[in-house]
Amino acid sequence: MQAPLVKSFNYNYEELGFCAGLEIHAQLQSERKLFCHCPPELVPSTAYSDYHFERYFRPVLGELGDFDAGMLVEFEKHYRVIYETYGNNICTYEMDETPPFSPCNETITKGFMLARFLNCESPVNEVIFNRKQYLDGSITTGFQRTTIIARDGFINFQDKKIRINNVLIEEDAARRVNFHDRASRTVYYNLDRLGIPLTEIITNHLDCQDPFALQNIGLLLGLGLRVLGIARRGIGSVRQDVNISITGGARVELKGIQDINDLPQYCDHEITRQLALLDLMRELRDRGIKKSDFQANYIDVSSAITNLGENEVGLAVRLPKCKGIFLIDVQPGKLFSEELFDRIELITGLSMDKMSQSDTPQQWLNSNRVREILNLKNNDSYVVICGSQKSVIHALSRTIERMNKALNGIPEETRRINPNTHNSEFLRVIHGKDRMYSDTDTPPVSISLDYSELLPPDIIPPWDISSKFPISVRELIFIEKVNFYPEFSFIILKYPESCRKLLGLIQQASHYIKKHQLNKETNSQIYKQLLTDLITNQISKDFLEAILIEIDSSGVYSRETRLLERTNIDDDMYRRIKVVIADSEKQPNNITLDKLFGILKAHFPMLTSEQILSTLLKEGKIGD
Ligand SMILES: [Zn+2]
Repeated sequence: MQAPLVKSFNYNYEELGFCAGLEIHAQLQSERKLFCHCPPELVPSTAYSDYHFERYFRPVLGELGDFDAGMLVEFEKHYRVIYETYGNNICTYEMDETPPFSPCNETITKGFMLARFLNCESPVNEVIFNRKQYLDGSITTGFQRTTIIARDGFINFQDKKIRINNVLIEEDAARRVNFHDRASRTVYYNLDRLGIPLTEIITNHLDCQDPFALQNIGLLLGLGLRVLGIARRGIGSVRQDVNISITGGARVELKGIQDINDLPQYCDHEITRQLALLDLMRELRDRGIKKSDFQANYIDVSSAITNLGENEVGLAVRLPKCKGIFLIDVQPGKLFSEELFDRIELITGLSMDKMSQSDTPQQWLNSNRVREILNLKNNDSYVVICGSQKSVIHALSRTIERMNKALNGIPEETRRINPNTHNSEFLRVIHGKDRMYSDTDTPPVSISLDYSELLPPDIIPPWDISSKFPISVRELIFIEKVNFYPEFSFIILKYPESCRKLLGLIQQASHYIKKHQLNKETNSQIYKQLLTDLITNQISKDFLEAILIEIDSSGVYSRETRLLERTNIDDDMYRRIKVVIADSEKQPNNITLDKLFGILKAHFPMLTSEQILSTLLKEGKIGD
């Protein structure tokens, strides 16, 4: 059997047919939550909840009268859900005790601004909310209210267009707290986040062929949300899901990546997994294994198990000709047996410790005895699972199902990520169309916005800047972080050739602002003027530090009055003037005061005569 491929950052993505798309979820700033009037704020982690309540979930029929397959798997998990509530941030809407209030108009308008920013051609003229089923308990109603604002947008990236399929507005889900063991069927949620307005931006999965490009696209979209001034900031305010596929593989969604810097690693680990599962598929087929080999015959092997609990049984299934397959690496440090068992654990709630397969001996299991009972040949395998009879049968039926899927390569699924290993594990089946149905509680909202006039003037989208100017995505992020994006965006249009110079000035300005703890919140107009004067050499950048301090204290910047009024100069400038005076006096011919004045004037054109005279006075070159 071929050695498994476990590499990192060594893939030829083009050769592999790598394709990836992003779903970016970002919280939007607003006065209230999307469907009620509670403040959209999270409680501090030290807060005590006022009270809690609990629920169970069951699926409902989709619009066409079918259950969504993914939902049924969710339902099988049969979670008991406990909600913690906090008086100020939660009302009866979040508890699903009252219908929604009218949707937040401010949020809907921001959705249209964003759609315009993303060049969407087809904004809706009526906002209609739908329900998207959610059975993991993170939404008390069991569904998320969501609406499409626009379709068919794009952003420029390098020399191509990345299509934006959809821009949506929806309510955020509750946040999971109190993580207990993974097999626990009880989950806890803090309800404060539920209902905070969220936007979802979906990029076309076929338009990106490289994980690093994908990362930059994600960074640009996140930056776009910030420069537009509509996104909330802080931990967890932006989360991204990634859709990945390779040639011959399947579309797999990795959910909830918070740190976009890790995106390329997650992509590589998923490529590794898909390649390994394709290898496994070929291996199973080469051994002549067919679907009919995996039979749902559950055989009692309790007599081979030493540590069975009360009311527990041990059942086994035969897996003919499968010797060795459980020890294939599917991700760095992760075997196929773990890939199989963490899936079964999540679906059934049985702990992985209660599962065993024939390639790895277990203390609690007499493997020879099992082989005898099952009447296995040398190259046959088995899986043994212990627990209550009902859950073991459930778990083994899922084992057979997963083995059958292995014959077809890679199952389409949604996987949750492990930030420590960058590996992932099964979360749920990818949802189909039956997950959505219309929300009868919320009337359609007619839209009467002038779509073409929604955007603030002068703000150029970061994707346009990065595709036209010699500046990196990281540098643009820096400019936004130090609060100079509006000025940069404004000036670069007028002086496109000064891009790098402008960046240098902003780096310097932000250094001084930090050094003197100045406030850069005032009127952007002032900084636009200041940076323009510097770019066009109207004033020297030697003055930048002093001017920034002056703006901070007086709130104004005026080039002319500033220069006329000032006779004092800073220490650094004073030192430099002294050097020029000393150099001039080293000349063989005696230097006159007039000549010295002229030299200084030529060296420091930004200084006023008054400033030069006062320095010469200070240096004792002029009598009182
Ligand atoms: Zn509320």
